[in-house]
Amino acid sequence: MTVTRTFSIIKPDATRRNLTGAVTKILEDGGLRVVASKRIHMTRAQAEGFYGVHKERPFFGELVDFMISEPVVVQVLEGENAVLRNRELMGATNPSEADEGTIRKTHALSIGENSVHGSDSDENAAIEIAFFFNEDEIVG
Ligand code: ADP
Ligand code: MG
Repeated sequence: MTVTRTFSIIKPDATRRNLTGAVTKILEDGGLRVVASKRIHMTRAQAEGFYGVHKERPFFGELVDFMISEPVVVQVLEGENAVLRNRELMGATNPSEADEGTIRKTHALSIGENSVHGSDSDENAAIEIAFFFNEDEIVG
């Protein structure tokens, strides 16, 4: 059994609709533990830096505008194979392709406004956690 960490964001479409608890319940029921959590309103510089890998993609501007449109909740999740488990619980990027019971199938509005972010590898999880949290804010 390998307990690892991943990084999650509850995106503006979800916080706006008061779904922070509903999303977190799916994560917790799915075996992940919230070991750090804070509600923030991202700056443009933060959003552009965080999503820097996507800066050449056609939706980059729209994605940054969306991520700074309302507050988000950034979280560190811990559990067995946390990156993979979180991706399973999130569902496919496009909610119309997401499996039943996933966060995106249940709550997302569109491929852009898709309620959650989740790291895609252990390496990126470590980078993304460090982008938003100091080690003393993470309490397992
Ligand atoms: P994921 O969040 O599933 O890892 P990506 O890393 O490919 O997906 O994309 C990052 C985010 O960019 C997505 O979650 C979504 O908010 C947005 N996005 C991705 N593809 C599109 C698209 N075709 N049109 C608009 N927004 C998109
Ligand atoms: Mg991604």
